[in-house]
Amino acid sequence: MAVQPVYELLRKSFLRNKNPVNRLSSLNLQSFRALHVDGRNRLSTFWVPTGGIAPQTAEDDGSHSSLIRGGFLRQAYSGVFHLLPLGLRVQEKLERLIDKHMRSIGASKLSLSSITSEELWRQSGRFGANSELLRLRDRKESGFLLSPTHEEEITALASGIVKSYKDLPLRVYQISRKYRDERRPRQGLLRAKEFLMKDLYTFDYTINMALETYQTVRNAYAAFFDELKIPYLVANADSGTMGGNLSHEYHFVSQRGEDHVCSCAKCNYVANEELAEKAAHTPSKLMDTLEGVRMWTGISKDRNTLVHVYVPQVKVETRDETIDESAIGHINIHALKSVYPDLDTSIEKNPLHLLKTNSSNGTFQIVRIFDYRVSPNLEETHRRDVANRGEINDITTHPTTGKPLDLTRIRTGDPCPICENGTLTVQRAVEVGHTFHLGARYSEPMNATVALPTQNASGSMALSGQVAMQMGCHGIGVSRLIGAIASLLSDNRGLNWPRVVSPFECVIIPSRGTEEDAVGVYDTLQGVSRTDVDIDAILDDRPIKDLGWKLHDADLIGYPVILILGRAWKKDRRVEVQCRRLHVKEDVKIDKLREVVMSILEKL
Ligand SMILES: [Zn+2]
Repeated sequence: MAVQPVYELLRKSFLRNKNPVNRLSSLNLQSFRALHVDGRNRLSTFWVPTGGIAPQTAEDDGSHSSLIRGGFLRQAYSGVFHLLPLGLRVQEKLERLIDKHMRSIGASKLSLSSITSEELWRQSGRFGANSELLRLRDRKESGFLLSPTHEEEITALASGIVKSYKDLPLRVYQISRKYRDERRPRQGLLRAKEFLMKDLYTFDYTINMALETYQTVRNAYAAFFDELKIPYLVANADSGTMGGNLSHEYHFVSQRGEDHVCSCAKCNYVANEELAEKAAHTPSKLMDTLEGVRMWTGISKDRNTLVHVYVPQVKVETRDETIDESAIGHINIHALKSVYPDLDTSIEKNPLHLLKTNSSNGTFQIVRIFDYRVSPNLEETHRRDVANRGEINDITTHPTTGKPLDLTRIRTGDPCPICENGTLTVQRAVEVGHTFHLGARYSEPMNATVALPTQNASGSMALSGQVAMQMGCHGIGVSRLIGAIASLLSDNRGLNWPRVVSPFECVIIPSRGTEEDAVGVYDTLQGVSRTDVDIDAILDDRPIKDLGWKLHDADLIGYPVILILGRAWKKDRRVEVQCRRLHVKEDVKIDKLREVVMSILEKL
């Protein structure tokens, strides 16, 4: 490399001089950064700003600050991130992988606008229900939103274009930025205000066809997640505000996760904790004193009713980091909300001061909800205390099913609801994808129908009856995946990327004097014949950094394979091959290098 001696001169001149800034003015100024455009990937040219500082929080396991220090991204505002070239490369590889699997099911890629109207969201009934919409007003004071998801827009678009069953099935997807007015952005890319998502929408004209489509999408998801080579769980899931009644969540098990997933090691039962069922058992005796009972206090959405919930305290045999030992930590909020839908679950602490009292006598409504193991007659003095504050209503059975209420959370060790003798394990998990069968949830209110054929009296076919299209929507959180992968595979030395999304598959680091040879090593990694795959390598040819610094940086960035031209190279032309994830460290002759690197990459 012809530029090297100039850098070396400059570097020495810096070191000699006590006041380099003054000295610089007398030098013929030359930047330390030179752009090489010879077609090879070079760190001297590729912009990787290092040394960024991320505030370390209790939630961060180090991976988020590694992403910042490694030069993948920077935070612009709370929950808003700029992706730098390294981060964008990871994102683009992930997008290409998604494209491949979407093509495999015949889905066409499109790009819907990020802007949507309040009006459309009112039509679907989701405007009022979502408190995290990022709202906009234009100069005419018309209400717009930055889309958190696109069911409304795609339904409106499809209903204007698709008129007949002959136009179906239709599968379209996009990979686009989505927005959420996050109350408390946290955990870097895992919960941000702006994020990238893949959303696939499917349209069929019968339920059976839609269910077949659903299965096809699930197969494509399995193939996609398998390629990342990271273990994942597929859980039966709550469809929440999305509607429909068939949905699955794709999770990575992770201590940073905000979801809890229950799984049975004996059978293949996996469910989101909120939906998981427990095997039935009958209590020998109802609890009738406050001892061993946990009481949690909440409030209704209209602020008129105080809610007391009584559940048995669960004895914890082993210390489990995933368990919140406060009263709310004992309660299955999903089960509670199905009993009392008006509950406001956004209030975390001390709801009493929010309560609206009856202005005439200072009292309020009180609802007491009892788990089936707790007697509603517990502690007369406690009941009197509560009664002094207002009028009491007790709930002991489910208002629609009439069944006794099991309001406690599932814990590790609880019996499996499906198999005999199996026990459940509850793990924290990060949701990285979901599939939803929506049915006519959006197509019906938004009048997205197609004409179906019917047979006339004369026996000929004609288009007549209109049916609402059967839809599905299927997401993959692209930004979340980047954050989750970074978190799962990082260790105390830095990040680790699966080969398929790694910004580069391998880095070549020369020691002093082997810079020219490193270019040759780079070239041997490229394929020879047209059918050979090139290894996506990058040369660390940054002039002013030494070998130790570069090795440290390579560990931080998390290239799957690191190649070093060090002592073994100078002695007998062998390249040191390192792979932290597979604990590989060996010297390899140059004629075997491509083969060895390929075989390592295939495992990652
Ligand atoms: Zn089981």
